[in-house]
Amino acid sequence: MTPAERAELVRLDRAHVWQPYDVGEDEARPPLVVARAEGSWLVDADGRRVLDGNASWWTSALGHAHPRLVRALARQAETLDHVALAGVVHEPAARLAAELAATLPGDLAHVFYTDDGSTALEAAVRMSVQLHANEGRPARTRFLALERAYHGDTLAPSMLGGLEVFRRPVAGLVVDCVRAPVPEAGGHEAAFEALERLVVAHAHELAAVVVEPIVQGAAGMRTYPPALLARLADVARRHGALLVADEVFTGFGRTGPMWAVEHAGVVPDLVCLGKALGSILPLGAVVATPRVRDAFRGGLPRTFLYGHTFCGNPLGTAVAREVLAVYRDEDVLARARPKAARIAQAFDALAQGPGVRATRSLGMIGAADLGGAGYAGDLGWRVYDEALRRGVYLRPLGDTVYVCPPLVIDDADLERLLDVVAESVTAATR
Ligand SMILES: *Cc1c(COP(=O)(O)O)cnc(C)c1O
Repeated sequence: MTPAERAELVRLDRAHVWQPYDVGEDEARPPLVVARAEGSWLVDADGRRVLDGNASWWTSALGHAHPRLVRALARQAETLDHVALAGVVHEPAARLAAELAATLPGDLAHVFYTDDGSTALEAAVRMSVQLHANEGRPARTRFLALERAYHGDTLAPSMLGGLEVFRRPVAGLVVDCVRAPVPEAGGHEAAFEALERLVVAHAHELAAVVVEPIVQGAAGMRTYPPALLARLADVARRHGALLVADEVFTGFGRTGPMWAVEHAGVVPDLVCLGKALGSILPLGAVVATPRVRDAFRGGLPRTFLYGHTFCGNPLGTAVAREVLAVYRDEDVLARARPKAARIAQAFDALAQGPGVRATRSLGMIGAADLGGAGYAGDLGWRVYDEALRRGVYLRPLGDTVYVCPPLVIDDADLERLLDVVAESVTAATR
């Protein structure tokens, strides 16, 4: 691509693309013009290679252009591109549902397909309220979540979410959510104690407790001990509230095991999936236990009258089946373990440096807090600029800098990524 062609794309972006979170608006930070992507690398229009430090918003667990995923997509596109899942079934949707049921813990076995992570949460919210109504408890319409939770940006998930900046524009609308505060510095012990008290206090009106298991991603990769989740699951169960686990980010081995709920030995009533599920295509799912599924049987008034046009799209479900097959055949989780250990080491070392307030790591995630301004902070963006100059795409969460690379990142690429994080943090906080 010539410099003029490249400039034209930037101009068209500015003029016509309304980017999510308005990231394209910042004049000081022109967009990367990405022409290709391969493995852990994005290739700029001028041929410059940039390491994808966050696996393209946490989706690309198997790296870009994985030949098996590309082939599965092409094969499926040639055979059956799309058909509505309306009294129709097809092989990818049917087999993927069975395969997900086989890999998820406990009796999670009924797969409701959605378009992406947000719509999976949207469906889970609707299911939770209607389940209680169907079972004769119409007062249970409220939700409980953690402060600084992130569950997606459509209306219902954004109102569960506890990140003030995302919630403010829709404050006061439909979904009624009680939130337990999480103190800035760790503090999940206290937050979960508050959650448990709220479950008890609101027992008569609570539909579900919704959590990101073990790590609150968008809040700044905030991890908490699995025992807290186990205890919360127990309290929710005893008080008749459903437990919804949002595994949109944590699923597919991001935190070590295939599903983050496995850290706590918990089987939720509903699990939401997205991101790495489709990896290269938008795809989401809610997976329910038989108890939940059965509450919707028995005639029209009990039916879940809900669906998205592209539910179970053959391309997405065929690719997701191949994602699962690659995890199995390439032993992705076991091979990620030493890489995760390297991330942990590197972030431990980073904690010793000046300018770093705290670090944490879990599986293929490492995070460092540089300042106390949270999502509104600017320090992470200074690191972003430094890292980009060194060939690494390191989009921050405000004052938190993190890595979340493909699980299959080459060891040499991972070393490069971790070196650049350290160098950029030093350069930005000097
Ligand atoms: C990204 C994310 C979502 C939303 O998924 P989308 O595909 O962006 O709609 C929901 N929950 C969590 C935990 C996420 O990280």
